[in-house]
Amino acid sequence: MTTTPTRRRFIEIVPFAGVALLAACSPKVDPPAAVADTPAAPAAMPAPAPPVVQESAPPMASAMPLVEESAAQAVALGYVADHTRADTVKFKSYVAGNQCSNCALYQGQAGDAEGACPLFPGKHVAAAGWCNSWVKKA
Ligand code: SF4
Repeated sequence: MTTTPTRRRFIEIVPFAGVALLAACSPKVDPPAAVADTPAAPAAMPAPAPPVVQESAPPMASAMPLVEESAAQAVALGYVADHTRADTVKFKSYVAGNQCSNCALYQGQAGDAEGACPLFPGKHVAAAGWCNSWVKKA
C-alpha cells in the first residue's frame, strides 16, 4: 500500500491537532504556588522563644544577710535592728527617731526594709536599725 504525501501528512498532523484542541478547550488551572515562576516567599520567622527563667538566679542585693546584733562589729557600734532598743546608757548619742533609714550612710531606698551600710560590708542593716555611728542624712 502506498501512501501519498498528503495522506501521510494528514496522519502526522491529526494527533497533534487533537492534543492542541484538547488543550485549547480545557479550563485554565493555575499552577500550584510551589511551581510558580516567582520564588516562594520566605517562610514566616518562628516566634521567639520565651525567656528562660533561671531557677537559680543570682542573689539580688536584698538577699544579703542581715547584720547580727551579736557580731563583734555590731556590738562595738551598738547596732540594733530596732532603734527603739538602742542602749541609751552605753550610747548616749542616740536620739529618738534616729535610725538607719535616715542615716547618711544607709544605702537602701526609701521604703526598703533593709539596705547596705559601708560599716557592715556584705551585710544589710535593718531600715529601722541604729548604731552609734549614725549620721544625719543631708
Ligand atoms: S552607720 Fe547608719 S546606716 Fe549604718 S548601721 Fe549605723 S545607723 Fe545604720
